[in-house]
Amino acid sequence: MFTESGFTVIVGAGPTGLTLARQLDRYRVPYRIVEKSPHPFEGSRGKGLQPRTLEVLDDLGLLDRFLTAGSPYPPMRAHLPGGGTRDWRLDEPHEPTAEAPWPNTLMVPQWRTGELLADGIPVEYGVGVTAVTQDSVTLDTGEVVEARWIVGADGGRSTVRKALGIGFEGETFEEERLLIADVLVTGLDREHWHVWPGADGRSMGLGLCPLPGTDRFQLTTPPTDRPLAELVADFDPSITITDVGWTTEFRANIRMVSRYRSGNVFLAGDAAHVHSPAGGQGLNTGVQDAYNLGWKLATGDDALLDTYEAERLPVAAGVLGISTRLHRRQVEEGAEAAMRRDDPALRQLPLNYRGGPLAAEHRADPGELRAGDRMPDAVLDDGRRLFDVLRGPHATLLAVGWTGGMPTLPGSVQVRHLALDTLAGVREECLLLVRPDGYVGCATTDPRHIVEYAALIKVR
Ligand SMILES: Cc1cc2nc3c(=O)[nH]c(=O)nc-3n(C[C@H](O)[C@H](O)[C@H](O)COP(=O)(O)OP(=O)(O)OC[C@H]3O[C@@H](n4cnc5c(N)ncnc54)[C@H](O)[C@@H]3O)c2cc1C
Repeated sequence: MFTESGFTVIVGAGPTGLTLARQLDRYRVPYRIVEKSPHPFEGSRGKGLQPRTLEVLDDLGLLDRFLTAGSPYPPMRAHLPGGGTRDWRLDEPHEPTAEAPWPNTLMVPQWRTGELLADGIPVEYGVGVTAVTQDSVTLDTGEVVEARWIVGADGGRSTVRKALGIGFEGETFEEERLLIADVLVTGLDREHWHVWPGADGRSMGLGLCPLPGTDRFQLTTPPTDRPLAELVADFDPSITITDVGWTTEFRANIRMVSRYRSGNVFLAGDAAHVHSPAGGQGLNTGVQDAYNLGWKLATGDDALLDTYEAERLPVAAGVLGISTRLHRRQVEEGAEAAMRRDDPALRQLPLNYRGGPLAAEHRADPGELRAGDRMPDAVLDDGRRLFDVLRGPHATLLAVGWTGGMPTLPGSVQVRHLALDTLAGVREECLLLVRPDGYVGCATTDPRHIVEYAALIKVR
């Protein structure tokens, strides 16, 4: 559907790089994806997939596999110092609606997310990038690979970002550290995320969260030199740790770039923004960076590629603000306040590109759903879902209650007529062009605007 793009090198096969590879695959853009680690990532690290990410995975045709691999967040169980327990939830479960069929965060260990995203992707493991220019990368094998586009999805310490000389502004909170380990445990039920308060009664002394689809728990505790089995036994002697797997010490690091693009080179995911884990936003934001960049790279259009930074940089800044607020709460109000996930922004469904360079809102009285918004799902009159119509790499024209003339569009654009009462937030007849990544691009009552917009986003 798009013009032929150039050869792309993706640096890093974390969730961001893998999502981009999947996007490029479906647009048939030739690419190589290199990963300096000799094997896939093995830790549970970012385990919360937000509702908007679930919609992206649905569009990529992967959602069923994630739903099978994951589970809803379990209720929390605090083990109180004097004995006894108190249960609460990070967020009350939300009922699916016509507009949001997967409204709850899904827990999937990050290694499993990586495994599912990597299925069928030709990742070159054990191959690191050591140098980057505008049109080539040097691999640690000595090979120089020429490329039209280069994407640094190489995490917080990004070699690509450093090669571009792009700063990573923000703060590192050296004192705020957390030890995380994937452990085998006996003597503890898997129906709760168990937490024990620290000595001050406010901070978290120990957390043990059952990881779905595995027999492990994710252990979190302030850094310690003591063996974990001993530490856990101090909190509850009836619990035994029988194996300690992937372990890391995490330092609160809150930073972002001022630019996402330098010529032919782009940054995405943790290479562009790192968050506090409070709120579970980092991996999700990276996946959605890649989802935004993928179809634009496929067009090879310079001006369209500039909109990647214009759209995603403000999103990263906003997400950083929310996770930083939650992080401060943890320091100031205690662990329980920071763990709450009931802010609707965390689910990432309200994130939008309103007012951005690709939001063409032409209606005089636009109603709730506007150009730049995520296109919500809907039940159609033939019983199908709107997401079934949108799924795939194409753009879609929705003619809502429309009785006027239709625009003449390239063959790849799918067209669907909807009754006026089908979409939440649309009350007047109109034409809506939905971008390949599921956001309303153009909203109008003039078919010529749709033709202009299709040309702007380079659909063929
Ligand atoms: C404790 C903790 C809990 C978290 N919880 C959540 C959560 O609940 N939800 C959430 O959304 N996020 C969470 N996150 C954040 C999440 O883990 C990251 O945001 C996510 O891993 C970012 O993905 P990425 O692909 O951008 O980068 P990464 O996962 O860091 O992947 C980058 C890849 O690039 C490779 N690489 C690096 N340099 C090179 C090079 N020179 N050449 C080739 N390859 C290279 C690396 O080996 C790595 O595999 C958490 C993070 C931590 C630390």
